[in-house]
Amino acid sequence: MSGALNLTETVDARTAELATNLSGLLQRIDAACLASGRDSDTVRLLPVTKFFPAADVAILYRLGRREFGESREQEATAKVAGLPTLVRQGVDAARSGAESDEGLSDVHWHMIGRLQRNKAKVVARWAHTVHSVDSERLATALDAGARAALDAGDRTDPLHVLLQVSLDDDPSRGGVAPEDLAALAEHVAASPGLRLSGLMAIPPLGAESDASFARLAILHTRMLAEHPGATELSAGMSGDLESAIQHGSTVVRVGTALMGARPITSA
Ligand SMILES: *Cc1c(COP(=O)(O)O)cnc(C)c1O
Repeated sequence: MSGALNLTETVDARTAELATNLSGLLQRIDAACLASGRDSDTVRLLPVTKFFPAADVAILYRLGRREFGESREQEATAKVAGLPTLVRQGVDAARSGAESDEGLSDVHWHMIGRLQRNKAKVVARWAHTVHSVDSERLATALDAGARAALDAGDRTDPLHVLLQVSLDDDPSRGGVAPEDLAALAEHVAASPGLRLSGLMAIPPLGAESDASFARLAILHTRMLAEHPGATELSAGMSGDLESAIQHGSTVVRVGTALMGARPITSA
């Protein structure tokens, strides 16, 4: 048996696995929407592809997904660069001279993990949305990066920003304290390179996710009163998306239930 044939079989097996997981997940989201009296088109699935190869992202692309979430800057930057070729390898295999290193204009990449200010410039080149903005210093760095990327033609729209709010008192897990949320929202709203799009949170370790999401919903309602355009609520992961949808999530960030288990070192 040739190596090429083995590779094809591997890709087919992974495609089947991801397609099965994806349809199960979309059914879970639909069921949660139904249980909450919401239209299923009010909640989006954001596949979280961290720790998995760009080849998996290409499979998800072929399965129709156009949004992907990443949490580590270096890994994400490499995947963003690698995806177009992987996607076109399938599409253009029969054509000749079709090589192109142009980006895929229909893909939206989301940065969902903690972000250091010195990575803001790079991330502002490829990210459609950053979910983890939790300080004015980070917002200022992202604004500068987004404006530079707009000037250079690397992006066409402002960088969408979700503020990550902390629902516990553990600053190591990221997130702005609820009492500082309004000031941070004002700061982002006044930044020309940024667009304030909404709120994000990760329930504290060991906390009741239902109570956390209920609290998050109250904070989001308050934010919307000042910033009616900030309609996104990024909440819910593999284990708690039903509860998040119950409390108004508009985008669930799902890794494990779609991709399988990550290595133990996962962050
Ligand atoms: C990894 C990650 C997820 C996905 O978590 P799963 O439990 O694997 O679905 C969601 N949000 C953030 C911020 C993450 O880092």
